[in-house]
Amino acid sequence: MAKMKGFAMLRIGEVGWIEKEAPECGPLDAICKPLAIAICTSDVHTVWEGAVGPRENMILGHEGCAEVVAVGSEVKDFKPGDRVLVPAITPDWNSLEAQAGYSMHSSGMLAGWKFSNFKDGLDSELFHVNDADGNLAHMPEGMTLEEACMLSDMVPTGFHGVELADVQFGDTVLVIGIGPVGLMAVRGCALRGASRIIAVGTRKACVDVAKQYGATDFISYKNGSIEDQVLAMTDGKGVDRVVIAGGTVETFESAVKSLKAGGKIGNVNYLGSGDYITIPRVEWGVGMGHKNICGGLMPGGRLRMEKLGSLITNGQVDVKPLCTHVFHGWKHIPEALQLMKDKPADLIKPVVILDDEIKF
Ligand code: NDP
Ligand code: ZN
Repeated sequence: MAKMKGFAMLRIGEVGWIEKEAPECGPLDAICKPLAIAICTSDVHTVWEGAVGPRENMILGHEGCAEVVAVGSEVKDFKPGDRVLVPAITPDWNSLEAQAGYSMHSSGMLAGWKFSNFKDGLDSELFHVNDADGNLAHMPEGMTLEEACMLSDMVPTGFHGVELADVQFGDTVLVIGIGPVGLMAVRGCALRGASRIIAVGTRKACVDVAKQYGATDFISYKNGSIEDQVLAMTDGKGVDRVVIAGGTVETFESAVKSLKAGGKIGNVNYLGSGDYITIPRVEWGVGMGHKNICGGLMPGGRLRMEKLGSLITNGQVDVKPLCTHVFHGWKHIPEALQLMKDKPADLIKPVVILDDEIKF
């Protein structure tokens, strides 16, 4: 069987280069080679916090763009040589969950997230894509590899937070967390017509980009409680919507306290520790406040990639400011992952352009 090289999680807390069997192509599948990959905060959760559980010799990576190398006999719209966008979430579109509108949970809760979770990810010479016609999208003409990488996860996840919070024209929205996911949520809120966008975060690079994307007010979670600051800046009224893209289990308490009755919270943040989320009884309207809390994994899929991609190609969303650290060459993947773990003040997102061969 053919072999491939890649960068893997060897076990919790340990990464390295490995060689393993190349994936096989089923009738509906595609085999792709990555052209560029981006590192995600979720990779840090996976490797160092055991977020998806113990894994051995699993190739990392779920954000990137690629060239198709082979397709199965039933694949209609893609052929070898095509350049493609690759969503982080690749559902089984034929599942009952997808038919019910929850593609991200096809075949089990969160099971639409397959790359570097249930199977090898993108950080190797070749990777496997299930349901190629439903999951891949053609890379638009003129789109850069860096831009394409932001479409895998950052744009769809940030925008899904906005969908979950159901942001409407004129809303005042609180966006908690302005890493790359929260920044995309800020942009999504602005596109949905929010009148005021209050952003929570401290790193200057992120604050600057949030302003560019449409944030109107800023709060530091290090300067006292988020809710006290929100209530002070809204005459005690609170906000119409909250998107959560950072923080901890305690953040929900602040979100509920910051929200008006009838408001909605959309959470896309990963909750890595703690057994329970606490919802404050009184501020939740003693159970009758119509304050909705909705948390979700982004849905994935080709149509979403094509639509979000057209926001970039038509100049509605500029993802370039997210790509603060762009490397060339496979050997930079470990360094890029370490950067994401360390989160220096000037970092938003590391991208690695794979324009050479893996050597080890
Ligand atoms: P980052 O770590 O880059 O950003 C986190 C943000 O949260 C920063 O702005 C940070 O502020 C802020 N923050 C940190 N602690 C607190 C706190 N206690 N209260 C309020 N804000 C806080 O993360 P990403 O943007 O890369 O990802 C955000 C989350 O989304 C992660 O948990 C990630 O795993 C998850 N995710 C979810 C996906 C989904 O489909 N649902 C997909 C991809 C990612 P500061 O400026 O001080 O650093
Ligand atoms: Zn990601």
